[in-house]
Order: sequence, then C-alpha cells, then structure tokens
Amino acid sequence: MNEKHLSERPCPVCEGREGSTLAQLCYALFDDLKMPGQKTLLECSKCGMLYDDVRFSDNQLQEYYRRNEHYAVSSIGGSGSVSKDNKARYDRIIDLLEPGSSGVILDFGCGQGGFISRCLQYGLKAVGIEPSAKSRKAAQEAGLHVYESMDSFVTENSSCKIQAAVFSHVLEHLMNPINLIRFFAEYANDALVYIEVPDADSYLSPKAVRWQEMYFEHLSHFRKKNIAELASRSCVEIKKEGEISFSKLQKDIRCRFIVGRFSFKSQRTEVSTMPDFYPVSQLPSVSVETIPHDSRPLALWGVSQYAMLLLGSCPELLSRIRHLFDASPAKIGRRIRGIVIEPSSNLSSLTDDHVLLIPKSYFLFQMRSQLPDAGFKGQVIEV
Ligand SMILES: [Zn+2]
Repeated sequence: MNEKHLSERPCPVCEGREGSTLAQLCYALFDDLKMPGQKTLLECSKCGMLYDDVRFSDNQLQEYYRRNEHYAVSSIGGSGSVSKDNKARYDRIIDLLEPGSSGVILDFGCGQGGFISRCLQYGLKAVGIEPSAKSRKAAQEAGLHVYESMDSFVTENSSCKIQAAVFSHVLEHLMNPINLIRFFAEYANDALVYIEVPDADSYLSPKAVRWQEMYFEHLSHFRKKNIAELASRSCVEIKKEGEISFSKLQKDIRCRFIVGRFSFKSQRTEVSTMPDFYPVSQLPSVSVETIPHDSRPLALWGVSQYAMLLLGSCPELLSRIRHLFDASPAKIGRRIRGIVIEPSSNLSSLTDDHVLLIPKSYFLFQMRSQLPDAGFKGQVIEV
C-alpha cells in the first residue's frame, strides 16, 4: 500500500487533492533559477491520474518559461523549429485536424513558430501563443504573429474567429491544464481542437521506468483514460484519438493524441471513480549503478533534464562531478550546485583520469562519434 499524500496542487484531471506517493523526484536545476527541484509523483486517489505535486508556484513556473531560452536555440522536436522531422509532425497534425478555409488556427506554446509557418505555406491563417521571450522573438523575426499570452491575443484580435486550437506537447507543462482548455472551449466554442501529449504508459511502467523521459518540466503524466476524462471535463467532444510516435527521428517516444471539437457547457462532468486498469506500485528509486565506485573524478556531457534528475538523485555522483559540458548556448556558463557548464569544445582539455558520463539521449550516437576528435581516452559510460 502506497503512502497517502495530500496534494498542494490539484489533480490536473479531476481537481482532487489526495493521491498515493509513487516516487520522490529530485532535480539539480540551474543555480540561477532559485526554484526547488523536488517533486512528488502521485497517483490520484479519485481518478487514477499520475501527476506531480510541486513546491513552486504557478507564478514561478510562468517565470521559468518566460526566461527559458533552450527551445529558441534548439532544432529538435518540441522547439517549434522548421526541421524536416518537425515539418512531418506539423503535416500530420494538419492532416488529422482537417481545418476549413475560414478562421485562424491558434498554436498554443508555438516555440519558434514552425507549425504556424507550415500552416501559412498551405494557405491557412495561423497565429501562436508563446511565453518564452526568446522563442517568441525568433518567431516574430520570421514575420509570424505570436503573442505572449491569451490575454494579449484577445486584446489585439477581439473579432478574430478561431477555427482550431492546437496544444501539442503543452498540457503536461502546465500547472492547471483543465482551466486553459475550458477557457478555450468557452472563448472558441465550436472550434476544432488537437491535443498531443507523451503517453505515460510508455515511460512509467513500474517494471521499466524510462527515467530519461521523466522531464522536470512535465508535471502531468497522461494515459488513455486520463486524456478522455480531461477532454470530457473541459468540454471537448472527441472525434478521433490514437497513439503515435513523437516523430520519425524520435520513434521511441510514444504519444497520445485527440482531435475534437469544443462544445462548451457550464457544468463539469464528473470523472469515473478509481480505475481498475493500472495498478501502479511504488517506483524504484533513480540510481546510477554503472558508475565505478572508486575515487576517480567524474565529468558529465549533456546537461539534459534527465542529467539533472541523476545529479539530484545520486549524492555520490554529485560529490564526484568535477566538470559539466553541454553544446547549448542556453546552458553554457550557468551553474549547477556551483559547477559551471563548459562548452563541449572544452572536452579536449579533459584529462584521461576522469570518467566521462553521457546520459541517455537522442544525441548519444552523435556524441559518441565526436569523442575521438575531442581526444579523450579515459573511460566513457552511458548512464
Ligand atoms: Zn484525479
């Protein structure tokens, strides 16, 4: 029997406040964020939703995304870039939505605006909402109409008809997704809606937790039943639903999508009571069993959110780390527990007595192939 936990944050599906604890998660975040990296993974006692209780406020979370520069300088999925891989994703969304010719498509959390550009290429009208100042600037410099918030969109476009709203890999980042969807259901009643989220069934199986997909930024972990209930409680009538890979390049990330239509009613539907489909037990703790237990100093290359989870969860790892390396300009120069993140080019000055850890990621193969050029001849371990 898992320990009961009274949650500060309401369940994102049924808004209940009680869950059983599945895991304590601790991320060693950038020192400059001044944000607690601890989260408690819960299973809602009422509806079975898996979600994180957090120690930061919604205002802190909004500030985190406002200042976030990572997605503005990245080209892989989630950044809203116009990479070939992302264009194929955008086409898939447009094909599933089947938008009409009148009204605007609104992409909530549009990043650099790649989806909006794709819609414009097909002669569709499209705009976006993006809280990150740097991503928004990139989109605006590309000539796209992107607003900081729904408030600013509404103020400047009071007579604009929304024909479709897109929430692609957005809801899991929000403190209270149901309020946002309900706002849209009322504001854009009868519009089409597309929702896509990572499929928690694929990464949270107690037998094989895919910790590399447990992002600090993901606060809600949706499974099939939860999406259907979120839709029903936020006035979305589902037309199609299914399971897909995130993209061709990131095939192993499994996602769920729904296509529906807003049909606003003032009353919220109740969720079905406790599920009988997914007995979740306490998850194993995050650990790095593969590091050699000797006195050699460690270095880590690739400061992803997964790396932050490893650093926050394993005191031995953190105490032995001497160098952190990353290629992203959004990370270089920042510190984690006092250790400055160096550019990947500094790997060439790493002495061979270090053990170099490379956390699992989409870039693993590419990084491995760069190692001979860096001249590092010490031990390399994938973690
Ligand atoms: Zn719930």
